Amino acid sequence: MNTFSEFPFEPILHTNLRRNGFSEPTPVQAAAIPPALAGSDVVATAQTGTGKTLAFVLPLLQSLLTNPKRGVQAVVLSPTRELAIQIHEAFVKVAAGTGVKCAVVVGGLAETHQLRNIRQGAQVLIATPGRLVDFLDRRLVDLAGIRCIVLDEADRMLDMGFQPAIRRILSSTPGARQTLLFSATIEKSVAQLIESHVRNPARVAIGPITKTAENVSLHVYEVEQDRKLSLLGSLLRADRSGSFLVFSRTKHGADRLAQKLSGSGFRAARIHGGRTQNQRNEALRGFKDGSFRILVATDVAARGIHVDGIGHVVNYDLPQVPEDFIHRVGRTGRAGAQGVASTFSTSSERSEVRRIERTIRVKLTPRQVPAL
Ligand code: ADP
Ligand code: MG
Repeated sequence: MNTFSEFPFEPILHTNLRRNGFSEPTPVQAAAIPPALAGSDVVATAQTGTGKTLAFVLPLLQSLLTNPKRGVQAVVLSPTRELAIQIHEAFVKVAAGTGVKCAVVVGGLAETHQLRNIRQGAQVLIATPGRLVDFLDRRLVDLAGIRCIVLDEADRMLDMGFQPAIRRILSSTPGARQTLLFSATIEKSVAQLIESHVRNPARVAIGPITKTAENVSLHVYEVEQDRKLSLLGSLLRADRSGSFLVFSRTKHGADRLAQKLSGSGFRAARIHGGRTQNQRNEALRGFKDGSFRILVATDVAARGIHVDGIGHVVNYDLPQVPEDFIHRVGRTGRAGAQGVASTFSTSSERSEVRRIERTIRVKLTPRQVPAL
């Protein structure tokens, strides 16, 4: 299907898609939505930035509109709070005016508001596994009547140790439910989860799952630790208005880097696991609304966040594992836009760069560090 108008959605969904400028489904949407609408389980692998959110939000909404029922009808599980909040934002856009109620259920934020939303009849819960299990254990939520569960970024959730929580949640849902599973990779633990909890799924695989987006230029600079800051400064000066997402390997590294940047006249927001949820939300908001054009982040905190128009991702430190490279670089060049990803590597890290190149099956373009 080439346009959304060909999908058998309720008129209000078509209107909302149009209003938000969504006219053509992305490949993962085109492939996953029809079987999901037909009630089939779906296992989809696709790179970041390919539009997986709407691939599950649309069939979910369609099912709730054509067969409305009270009580919790669907659960979307997501690895991080930021990602859950982002899914909620996408949900709100296409659910506008439908009357479908949704609650975000995540840790790190006060639970009062979340519980009130559930009590007031939320039909869809967008949750991180930890907080949802907590609510289940305390019998604050009942999943016995749900028709659909979505596991978004399943590989990431398992990496983060959520396997017991996910199994606990799945066992609280009816066996006859529909399961939609999205993952960048289907490694062993994900395959096991599929084996035991997903029934006869339609399989959707978009593009080579180990590749980064094609519209991102991948540069690598060989630079020693003590020259990295001035190299970053020169990239920032070369693109005076663009937004930069800068990855640090550790929380302390992120703090130190933001401090040094501000010492060189570049104000940067910070997002990492050592900050409170409010500080993280604040930082993300400041970056999104343009108050800060630099966001310094660690891998876990940045997982899945989407900000429109990030022109430049900088790997100030190499990622711990090559897969994180794909996740980091997936923050730019989304939905067809052009992006640049600059990787800083010290001379002793050459073999790690090779490992990344083998994983993504692309050679990073070497760039000379400008004379500083
Ligand atoms: P993923 O979960 O695969 O990483 P997202 O669902 O977060 O990707 O989508 C990435 C970006 O693409 C978002 O900004 C989203 O609004 C945009 N997008 C999604 N679907 C479409 C579409 N059909 N047309 C245009 N943009 C889209
Ligand atoms: Mg996603």
